[in-house]
This record gives sequence, C-alpha cells and structure tokens, in this order.
Amino acid sequence: MRYREPAICLRTVDYSETSQVVHFLTRDEGIVHLMAKGTKRPKSKAGGAIDLTSEGELVFISKAIGAMGTLVEFTESVSHLGLRKDRAKLFGAMFMLELVSATVLEGDPHPDLFALIHNGLARLDEEDSNAMAVTAYFQWRLLRHVGLSIRIDQCVSCDGDLGAGQSAWAGEAYFNSSLGGLICRDCEASVADKKRISPETLAGLDALLAAESGRPANLTETQARGVNRLLSYHIQQHIGKPLHMPRHITGPPGK
Ligand SMILES: [Zn+2]
Repeated sequence: MRYREPAICLRTVDYSETSQVVHFLTRDEGIVHLMAKGTKRPKSKAGGAIDLTSEGELVFISKAIGAMGTLVEFTESVSHLGLRKDRAKLFGAMFMLELVSATVLEGDPHPDLFALIHNGLARLDEEDSNAMAVTAYFQWRLLRHVGLSIRIDQCVSCDGDLGAGQSAWAGEAYFNSSLGGLICRDCEASVADKKRISPETLAGLDALLAAESGRPANLTETQARGVNRLLSYHIQQHIGKPLHMPRHITGPPGK
C-alpha cells in the first residue's frame, strides 16, 4: 500500500554509497522502517541525505508491519536549524528521538505522541528554550502516552495518600520502577530496588503534574535534571536495556 504521511526522522543507517535505511515516526502509521534508495545522491528526489529530526511529508510503500518498506519521496518542511546550532538542544532532540524509538512499537500509531515530539522539537528551536526542561516535560508526557506514567500522589506500596505537594513526603521519598511510583518512608524498608529521590526531583515532578492542569512549569535546571534522570531510569528499567543518550543529558548516573 502507498501512504502519504507527515513524518519525523528518528534514525538513519547508511546502507550503501548512495542509500539509507531511515526510521520515521509517522502521524497515523506509527514507526516505519524504509529503504531510501539514492537519497545520498545530490540530486535525489528526497533532496539529499535525510537527517535526524527532519520533518516533512513522506510518501512510502509498505507491504506489512515489521517488513522494510520503500521510501518514494520525502519533502522536508522543517529542518530544525535552530536546535542544531546548540549542543545541549541537539542532544535533547536526539534524546527525544531515542526515547520514541525505544518505547513505541512498529505499526502502533500514536498521533498524540507525534504532536508531542513535533511541539518539543519546535520548542527546542526557539532561542529562549531550555533543553533540560523541555526534555523533562517531554519524558513526563511520553510516559503517559506509552502507558508507563508514574504515580506521585500516593504511595504505590500502601496506597497511603500523600496529598499534593512535596511537604507530605517530609523531603524523603523513594521510587520503585516495577511498582511504577513513589514509596513512603513507612514502606521504604520493605521494598527492594528502590531509588532515593531528592527534594529537587520531587519538586520538579510536582511542577510537571501542575503543568498538566494548565499551570506554568518553571523547572529549575536542578529539578529538570533530577526528573530527566529519574524518568530515563524508569524507561530503561522497563525496556530492559540501557539507552545511549541519557548520560549526555544528565551526566553520569548517580551524580
Ligand atoms: Zn507506603
């Protein structure tokens, strides 16, 4: 079948002197893997080699989910030159692409997630954006879309209500990935594999929760870093393998 879809380039692998295998997130068809013949020729129909984060209109042929499709044409509409000029923003963008590749199954459409990454990349293009905060918000929203959101209002072990805001935690909270949320001080001793969460990270999570109900989320750099570290830890625990980009965003683990 032939498709015409808005698409964002997630990953490229050189295939030969002139061709690439390109992974795209499409709006309505999810992730597709396509053989892009001749894209590396200067006068190719796709307008040259396709780059990470490129967005545009994609025409492709796909026979079955999981099978390699064929790129017919790619017309770039957004090249994200803004974020490419700034190392932190470029790494933030690549982190977002990696997260989507790692958590979304091929052939599983996520139009809302497509909008989320489209908006996230556009925000990184803006001069006044902060890569740490943009990626923290992106991860928080991504977890909702892929069904991995974490619970921060109640203890996931005893269901004890912790109320809104970090004060109820008395500055001390723990996180367990397989239970999918925070653990109170009373339960902490009985839960293995827990991770202590700093008050800054907790405040960052609170701010993101508040942002979902329309309040502005002004995370500090430290809060956003803590959130990025915690949420990418959670994702890596879930997918069972390490991701490449988190250490470039938050520094070495445990710091
Ligand atoms: Zn508890």
